[in-house]
Amino acid sequence: MKRHTRHVTADLAVIGTGIAGCAASIFARDLGLTVAQIGHSGAMAYTTGYIDLLGVLDGRVLDDPWSGLDALRSTDACHPLARMTNHDIRTAFDRFVRLLGEMGLGYTAPGDRNVSALLPYGTTKPTLSLPDTMLPGSDALHRRAPALIIDFEGLQGFSATEFCTNMASVWPGLRPARLVFPGLEARPVFPEVMARTLETPVAQEQLADLIQPLLNGAETIGLPAILGLQAPDRVRARLEQLTGATLFEIPTIPPGVPGIRLREAFERELPRRGVLLEPQNKVSEAILRSTGVDLTVQGALDDLRIEASAAVLASGRFLSGGLKSDRYRVKETVLNLPVRQPETRDGWFSAEYLDPAGYPVNKAGIEIDAAFRPLGPDGVPASDRLFAAGVVLAHQDWVRQRCGAGLAIATAYGAVQAAAGSINAR
Ligand SMILES: Cc1cc2nc3c(=O)[nH]c(=O)nc-3n(C[C@H](O)[C@H](O)[C@H](O)COP(=O)(O)OP(=O)(O)OC[C@H]3O[C@@H](n4cnc5c(N)ncnc54)[C@H](O)[C@@H]3O)c2cc1C
Repeated sequence: MKRHTRHVTADLAVIGTGIAGCAASIFARDLGLTVAQIGHSGAMAYTTGYIDLLGVLDGRVLDDPWSGLDALRSTDACHPLARMTNHDIRTAFDRFVRLLGEMGLGYTAPGDRNVSALLPYGTTKPTLSLPDTMLPGSDALHRRAPALIIDFEGLQGFSATEFCTNMASVWPGLRPARLVFPGLEARPVFPEVMARTLETPVAQEQLADLIQPLLNGAETIGLPAILGLQAPDRVRARLEQLTGATLFEIPTIPPGVPGIRLREAFERELPRRGVLLEPQNKVSEAILRSTGVDLTVQGALDDLRIEASAAVLASGRFLSGGLKSDRYRVKETVLNLPVRQPETRDGWFSAEYLDPAGYPVNKAGIEIDAAFRPLGPDGVPASDRLFAAGVVLAHQDWVRQRCGAGLAIATAYGAVQAAAGSINAR
């Protein structure tokens, strides 16, 4: 059968459907740009759902990420977050979190201080904004309020007993309990299936009936993140009404429901906002022109050619396929851009396995100029029409610095502002 090629023109092409790509599309639509966005399922489904800005700097846990950013600017000026003002980063964060609310996912407004957020194994991490379904857990930890922690038979990667045991020294009033999830007989049980089941009123009532006898005076209940996919705040509110207790979610190991919620919400919302979204495909060819960027996407049945006045590269790192490596070098996969990295493979790692400074290869990535334009082999921008955002950028170690989503959102804002400037200067 002859393959058909669709031709599309757009002001901006966004390469990647992770947090950086989705944020870039929204920021671009806010500016009135037409947008075509292409990507595949990347790291988004793996996230806890927390939106970190900067949680750790030089091994120090930060209470105030904003003064942490000020310090970062003086010690590590090449860090992508250090290239932006706190004002612009706040604008980007506020807009993104507002958008999540508009999509039906309530998040706490980013404030001046990090919050201690719960992790599946009974540890905590600093974050700036968290889902409303998780906030009561952080509040309860802060108050050391007694709480019942529930897990489910057959659910792997989340144990209430383990959570309570590991938390015991900082949060002594926890009590574990295990339930059989209503209506799911096969083992193991998966958080996504439980979440979809809990969207039905019947399952909500059955679960509440199972929780009731366990309460024994408990006013706060922690559950793994399973409270629905499309409207978690409504599911939580209904279960609170049925049990008479305050409920909170604890992220499970990846891939988890909070990330799937984000991915599905963006897949629903971006087309509604006028973005031409190709969420199951990757760019197979990209050509830089003086007037823009041409992209080819080979779909299962037909092909897509996008002619855009500018592009934002938000293709992520190894997990999402934006970077790849052989035994010698790290490479950028879409445009073969130079990757900043240690001279040789010997320099990738550290002799100390758990080196608190991290491994140098973690900071490998695309080098950009002040206008978020990736640099070519000669050290000047590869194109005036190409911009980059997210964790594909060099000079950051988002895992260790606890800045994953924040870096993606902030740099997407910076890249889109710069791209809009170049498009409007045509
Ligand atoms: C296990 C885990 C836990 C996390 N927890 C947190 C957390 O608690 N807090 C936090 O703030 N952040 C967290 N993150 C980080 C966060 O989810 C994102 O990974 C981060 O924000 C980076 O986003 P990104 O958009 O730059 O890259 P990615 O999310 O990696 O997205 C890259 C996108 O590019 C696409 N792509 C790649 N190649 C091509 C191509 N050729 N054509 C088109 N598209 C392409 C991919 O398909 C993907 O859609 C976590 C991540 C992981 C993996």
